Amino acid sequence: MEIVFASSNKNKLEEIAALCPDHIKLIGLEELGITEEIPETSPTLVGNALQKANYVFERFQKPVFADDTGLEIEALDGRPGVYSARYAGEGKDANANMDKVLAELSGKENRKACFKTVIAFIDANGEQFEFEGRVDGEILEQKTGEKGFGYDPIFRPDAYDVSFAEMPLTEKNKISHRARATQKFVAFLAGL
Ligand code: IMP
Repeated sequence: MEIVFASSNKNKLEEIAALCPDHIKLIGLEELGITEEIPETSPTLVGNALQKANYVFERFQKPVFADDTGLEIEALDGRPGVYSARYAGEGKDANANMDKVLAELSGKENRKACFKTVIAFIDANGEQFEFEGRVDGEILEQKTGEKGFGYDPIFRPDAYDVSFAEMPLTEKNKISHRARATQKFVAFLAGL
């Protein structure tokens, strides 16, 4: 069965393809000739994931999934959340995003946060399914570690004493929000 991944991120496509059961063939947007950026204008992660999946489904009527991820910080009422990539501006500058978070949390005792990934899947009949992965932790006082991307240097997952940016990728991938959402989705695909 062919399933479209509504994302232009080739690394993610390869990562998920490697986990998929053999009867599933993943197709990227390039293969469908979609080169434009798919709009994601919803105020929620699930809304954005569905918006991206719908964009492809409306054009091709093929089974399709899309994902969206955000960092939610309790003391900031869930921000940056759905705006994680562009929190400090359109430049998607990870350092500037982290600086903004650290400044906003300055002096705050509650540093609880979580990463959430939502995968939205639309099957050949247009039925919608959602899968969520979450990892809880806290925001550190300063950036620590060089690995990873995005907010990794300021996020310490619960039960670890290092940041995501200090963990080997293989370790992060065992517990991450994205890994957990992907595991649920892949288990669902195995039953199709
Ligand atoms: P996306 O929906 O996967 O593009 O993620 C949106 C934004 O969330 C990214 O641009 C990063 O700022 C942040 N993000 C997503 N996943 C991670 C992660 O595993 N570590 C750190 N930041 C992440």
